[in-house]
Amino acid sequence: MALTMLFGCAKKEEGETETFSGIDLVKDGKTEYSILLPENAEDMEQTAASELQTFFEMATGISLTVRTDDAAVTAQDHVISLGNTSLKEAEKIDTASLSTHGFILRRVDNALIIAGEDGRGTVYGVYEFLERQFNYHYYTGDEIAIDKTTNCKLIDVNYSDAPYIPDYWIGYETMSSFYNSNLRYRALHDFEISRWPHSHLSFLPYDQYKDHEGWYDASGKALCLTNQEVMDEMARVVIQHAEENPTVENVMLGAEDSWTICSCENCQASDTQYTHTGTDIIFCNYVADKLAEHFAPQGRTVNIVSLNYYNTEKPPVEYDESKQAYVPLDEKVIPHDNVYVHICYVYADYSASFKDPDRNSAQIYNLDGWKALTDNLTAYTYNGLFVNEALLFFDDFAYKSDYIRTFGEYGYKFVFMEGSPTKASTFEAMRSYISAQLFWDPDQDVNALTSDFIQNYYKAAAPYIQEYYDKISLHMSEMKAMYEAENKNFGAYVQLEMNKYLFTDRTWPQRVLEQYLELMDKAFEAVENAGYDEDLYEKMIYRLRIEQLSPRYLLLALYPSSFTESEYEQLAAQFNEDAATLGSKIRL
Ligand SMILES: [Zn+2]
Repeated sequence: MALTMLFGCAKKEEGETETFSGIDLVKDGKTEYSILLPENAEDMEQTAASELQTFFEMATGISLTVRTDDAAVTAQDHVISLGNTSLKEAEKIDTASLSTHGFILRRVDNALIIAGEDGRGTVYGVYEFLERQFNYHYYTGDEIAIDKTTNCKLIDVNYSDAPYIPDYWIGYETMSSFYNSNLRYRALHDFEISRWPHSHLSFLPYDQYKDHEGWYDASGKALCLTNQEVMDEMARVVIQHAEENPTVENVMLGAEDSWTICSCENCQASDTQYTHTGTDIIFCNYVADKLAEHFAPQGRTVNIVSLNYYNTEKPPVEYDESKQAYVPLDEKVIPHDNVYVHICYVYADYSASFKDPDRNSAQIYNLDGWKALTDNLTAYTYNGLFVNEALLFFDDFAYKSDYIRTFGEYGYKFVFMEGSPTKASTFEAMRSYISAQLFWDPDQDVNALTSDFIQNYYKAAAPYIQEYYDKISLHMSEMKAMYEAENKNFGAYVQLEMNKYLFTDRTWPQRVLEQYLELMDKAFEAVENAGYDEDLYEKMIYRLRIEQLSPRYLLLALYPSSFTESEYEQLAAQFNEDAATLGSKIRL
């Protein structure tokens, strides 16, 4: 983060070693240090203290005591100060100018001060301290690395940082599963959207309102967005929803998951004049105004979030040659202050830059066009194959940092990254980890991150898994080049229809799959010979079995005739059983 410049310190770069003070943090398995908490510590400051206690003990065996701020504390004291303490005030640590959820980490004399822009920032600062002090890394809930020590000096640090995108939600299956912690990935999110994503008919159910003439299209799947009665009733029920849910800040008005739109005369005229997205935004603006009217006297803001998906993905703008920029089609299609747009990048090729004019020209138009309309930008990205295709490698590692950076450059306030809906998809755990790393700082070297993850997560099997990962990444880029030369579309798309060559024997030659499976065999062998205790052994075998699913599946699905009938039957049954056990929805 550029913030570091502000405080005259620099992030520890790859290979650079941490600077230590001459002060003993731990000596002969004992410490003089305690945690200093503000007198009325907020919840997140208490979380910061318990996280520090947990991992400090994991590293040193010492349970740190917590001292409540009594204002007598000075920097001569051996304390790790968390959050808004009197010591932080006395040392004039300025957290107000930090970016959202940022923190400062500073040693002053004997004291170490960790203070965030908010409580969450303080927790994130604790993780930074642990990384620097004890080489702590949270790979997954069941793979946490930390150095063990009975003697160490306190780091000498003056550093601040903040997440690159202020708010993000990583929607991989493993992120939200029981064993992972979004907090420890520094990936909690604030931007909660009530009734996300398809809400039109849940607010105005067809069965309830079908007798109202002209409220729906002929199929009953789409609302008439230009009907005054519909607009008023939608405003009424959304206000009621927000009244009944006092913590709601953002409500989505999103069409159903279909291409259906109302084709009445008024809608057609509006769509012609403003585009269908324009019609949708005008509808959102109307409801948003009613919300503002209703809630402003209470001092409450409730935002409408539009769902810009399928029919409403393209921004209602035109290119103004004289200005060399996109401009709104009409004043009416400019989202009002309490309208956020949620742009679904559903057609993007995630194996390329969002600014690649050959592969993602439609996304460049989306980025520039929506930016011309509003600063209330939020995004929905798709970072895995959906439903039954999740066992095909989703080739987005190389460009994850590129599009995260792009969203940052365009000032997106919130980004949702949707992964595949199964915890057994290829390199699923690594996807969660890498995404969290890059949302925090997209300038990190992705290859270094993946190698580090593979090393720590696959241990004795790491050389073979690394080789497999390198091979499959290279293979995908070769396939991309091959199909590109034939003017055929091949990339990382959420839907298989957009990438119809992906699941073919041409893309996955049998010998390639057999090579992958040989590497898997070697990976299993390495774990067998590693001398692990039973728990670690089971854990490692489980991880390898998940990664082995993809080449097994492809070989059986694409080359059934290379097996005898009974062989195939047996292998397919075994695959189906393993897939079910490992949490994959795919069956042969
Ligand atoms: Zn209509």
